[in-house]
Amino acid sequence: MKKHFRGAIKRITAIFFILAMLLSSTAVFASLEKGDLNADTKLNSKDLSLLQKFVLTGNANFDLALGDLNSDSKINSKDISALQSLVLHGSDFSLGEDPYKTFPLPENSLLQGKLIVLDAGHGIGEGGVYKDFYEHTYNLIYVKLIKESLEASGARVVLTREDDNMVDNYLRMAFLNKTALEFLLEHYQAKLSRYDAENYEEALSLLGDIEELYRMIELMGSILENPQLKETYFLCPYDEVNGRRIHAETEKVFRYLKDDYIQNNMLFISIHTNAPGNPGPLSVNGTVTYYIDNEYNKEYYDEYLVENNRRLSLILLDRVSQAGGFAKKECDTNDFFMLRETTVPASLVEVGYHTNASDRKKILSDENRKRVANAVAVSVMEYFSISFQ
Ligand SMILES: [Zn+2]
Repeated sequence: MKKHFRGAIKRITAIFFILAMLLSSTAVFASLEKGDLNADTKLNSKDLSLLQKFVLTGNANFDLALGDLNSDSKINSKDISALQSLVLHGSDFSLGEDPYKTFPLPENSLLQGKLIVLDAGHGIGEGGVYKDFYEHTYNLIYVKLIKESLEASGARVVLTREDDNMVDNYLRMAFLNKTALEFLLEHYQAKLSRYDAENYEEALSLLGDIEELYRMIELMGSILENPQLKETYFLCPYDEVNGRRIHAETEKVFRYLKDDYIQNNMLFISIHTNAPGNPGPLSVNGTVTYYIDNEYNKEYYDEYLVENNRRLSLILLDRVSQAGGFAKKECDTNDFFMLRETTVPASLVEVGYHTNASDRKKILSDENRKRVANAVAVSVMEYFSISFQ
């Protein structure tokens, strides 16, 4: 009985391994001919036998969550069919000459397993107002379009606000961090379910992490329920226990969210339209993106994973300005609240200046907004190094 059980485990392990291999290597396979596992530029029975061989002889070095091809947080026969379909048909996704033209992007599964939190800046009573233009309205329109385009590519998308009502910035960040911790928890639990007696030590340590994650999820949830707590956990005056301004618990949240799993599978993007920050000519125009680096607020926190934030912001600057026909202005650093209170890779995008007649015309155009939304979705693919034709 035991022997039979072990054999089954080995077999399942092997299947997980190939699922993980294939999904984590989507970029590689996508750059070959469809599903061509042996790189002979043909998709044939040899590729299928190669796949079978992987399944039968795989090893234990795999990642369960990556094997979940259809993101139902289970590894099951549906994933096997998704895998088979990937091998047989590859990804038919092609962006063509103008990658932003068709909205939403053609249905594809390139962002399967990714979680994107989108933030529409401000809300009623806040944000830029210029003549009869209210920034918060357009931020939300953009975010809803971006969601549609990302979902067409298989991503999970969550919004920090769904209507024009203002949501406190602190609560947005508590919500983002809670969502990220839950995402990590899913991953850890899946990992734990793969361990057996031989992994006793690892399992024990992972259980400790899982317990911590539950606690921190509850903590972030308590801020959402009792907004007064925001004063304690975000940008606090000075934390005696920690010896710096960031609260020890918040710092722990930040540390967990620097986990590779979050860095490789999750993003936070805040969408805005711009107005000149200082008095001066109103003709200033173009796209600007922001990320935080470790030079800001050193006494608060200075261990952000700057390279990820920066790379995301550079890609967004390129693609958003190109797709919308905005001037490519700059990718700059800032310590905006939305960038400071998380370590999920984050960028704040100022699509264009609503105070500039030419930019405003583009922001008011539905067609232009759809191009920008596609550009954000394609930026997300580029960030995750997913190649497409
Ligand atoms: Zn704004």
